[in-house]
Amino acid sequence: MNCFTRWIAICLLSVAGCCFAQTDITTSTLIEERGVWLNRTEMFVPKEKLLNFLDSLMAAHFTSVYIDTLFKGTVIYPESKYLPQFEEVTEPDILSWLIPEIKKRKMRAEAWLEYGFYAFHTKDATQTTDRGVFLSKHPELTAIASDGASYIHNINWGDFFSLCPSNPLSHKLLTDLYIEVAQRYPFDGLNLDRIRFPNENFCYCAYCRENFKKDTGLELKPFQEGTPEYQKFVLWREEQLTAFMKNLAPAIRAARPGIAITMASLPPDMKESHGQCWDRWLKEGYIDAAMPMLYGDAGFKKRIQIISQYPRWNERIFPGLDSSGLSPQKILEQIEYSRQQGAKGIALWYSGAIDDDLPILSTNSFAQPAVSPLK
Ligand SMILES: [Zn+2]
Repeated sequence: MNCFTRWIAICLLSVAGCCFAQTDITTSTLIEERGVWLNRTEMFVPKEKLLNFLDSLMAAHFTSVYIDTLFKGTVIYPESKYLPQFEEVTEPDILSWLIPEIKKRKMRAEAWLEYGFYAFHTKDATQTTDRGVFLSKHPELTAIASDGASYIHNINWGDFFSLCPSNPLSHKLLTDLYIEVAQRYPFDGLNLDRIRFPNENFCYCAYCRENFKKDTGLELKPFQEGTPEYQKFVLWREEQLTAFMKNLAPAIRAARPGIAITMASLPPDMKESHGQCWDRWLKEGYIDAAMPMLYGDAGFKKRIQIISQYPRWNERIFPGLDSSGLSPQKILEQIEYSRQQGAKGIALWYSGAIDDDLPILSTNSFAQPAVSPLK
């Protein structure tokens, strides 16, 4: 064999080798997101117990863990420049070892920024004047309902205070905080949550009144659904949050190149009432993936059919399923239905409710190992 023929032979072998390698990857590895929200209730336990839980996630072929990092106006880690550390932490700096332990088990770790624009929580707002650090420093940023209420009362959970989702200063507070999280710890992604108005009755603060009038020529007041004024109100709120996302995304990506920005988002029928046009944010690239919370079984298929029309459905939308309210068998059915419709993954709510799902997942829907499309 002369030099030239040997060179040709080597080239052919390399090409063949490439093909074999390619075939090997595509036939043996599924590209699919399988995430779980790791709630604080399962984090404040003895370390061994938490490590065992991570082992069981790895054995069931999960690909990602979304770690509860921001809630109740506090963060889980020490020495934030912006917010106090949650008082009931059981470890001084749990993220310092939890993230490496997740990665050691071949899973991705995202910071689940649970509270988003929600800035404070208390069981009963009439019993305390505390409003958390952000709202104590900037009371003018408190989101206000159409009836003047300054918080959202939930019969089961208590009272929640939100930052005004329109005000650029609210945007700055969250942007600075999220950059800190991205730079402080080696997260693979930030899982944004509650990037929205609290509900259809918000926000009627002074900033919103003034700027709605300036932008639309209308006085801000509750509008009848279906009217042209209501449509302006809907679009105006979406623009305020889109402005936030448009600035946030490049700021995070500049702070930590390569980090994924994902979002626990609302089901399609709740987007408009909360000003959360996450399908647009996905299309325009401000988020890399969305996990719409399609909890429950009533209307599940209809919701999947709606979001399957959204851009990037079959690559970057991973339905969020509620394992706390459904049987393992029903969860399997929802996973299979999502797959049939083209979804490339799912996310499960939540760590405290999936013990009974893990055995059945690992022998059925998750039997084949997977790599996250976000990896
Ligand atoms: Zn406002």
